[in-house]
Amino acid sequence: MKIIMLGAPGAGKGTQAQMIADKYNIPHISTGDIFRANIKNGTELGKKAKEYMDKGLLVPDELTVELLLDRVANEDCKDGYVLDGFPRTIPQADVLDAELTKLGDKVDFAVNVDVPDENIVRRMSGRRACLKCGATYHIEHIPPKQEGICDKCGSELVLRADDAPETVQNRLSVYHEQTQPLIDYYDKKGILRTVDGTKDMKDVFDAIVDILNA
Ligand code: ADP
Ligand code: ADP
Ligand code: ZN
Repeated sequence: MKIIMLGAPGAGKGTQAQMIADKYNIPHISTGDIFRANIKNGTELGKKAKEYMDKGLLVPDELTVELLLDRVANEDCKDGYVLDGFPRTIPQADVLDAELTKLGDKVDFAVNVDVPDENIVRRMSGRRACLKCGATYHIEHIPPKQEGICDKCGSELVLRADDAPETVQNRLSVYHEQTQPLIDYYDKKGILRTVDGTKDMKDVFDAIVDILNA
């Protein structure tokens, strides 16, 4: 099964993608996590990507597309995957579509996690991220068992630099301009499914499972 997660920054894509990955035993692929790992390791790609990420802008397609295609060509992706944060532009979606078509394959579902902008800024200021394993928490809604420590790998949790309120506003504008058109794009292909992302994490997940099992 090949699944794309759509939704504004902070809508809960990563949270749901991880739950899907665990339940269906497929990899959770987050381009944001891949970029953050590169920044942490000081790679050339990381240096380039950071310039854009810190401003709340998208990393250019040239730097993003090949990285993603390489990742999904990996052996562990042969039974499917859940993409979180890719595609974010129509050209990215077109490349993915062309690549899958070449392989006689396709995306099964684009799951749109719908959360209004008003809720987003509040969510982001409470987000805490593990840069080692990619797990995310929320200080009020989804706290880790021990404050500041990742339940999964024991690393320290951080507030992402790009989760500062001013940057979140930029990311929301970028989302509306460049990413939201993908909702129509996948609707036209007949694979768009929308869930109410303002509900509890567990309720959102139940709605997604109903869709995937239908
Ligand atoms: P969020 O969890 O808020 O949706 P991500 O972790 O997915 O954020 O992405 C963080 C940043 O990484 C984005 O603001 C953008 O700069 C960059 N990024 C991630 N995925 C992509 C992509 N597919 N295309 C361009 N930039 C990306
Ligand atoms: P995205 O990947 O779309 O940027 P995340 O999955 O990182 O979003 O979620 C953003 C923040 O909101 C995190 O702090 C996360 O713990 C929290 N969160 C995720 N889902 C919910 C939910 N259903 N209700 C409340 N908070 C949530
Ligand atoms: Zn961790």
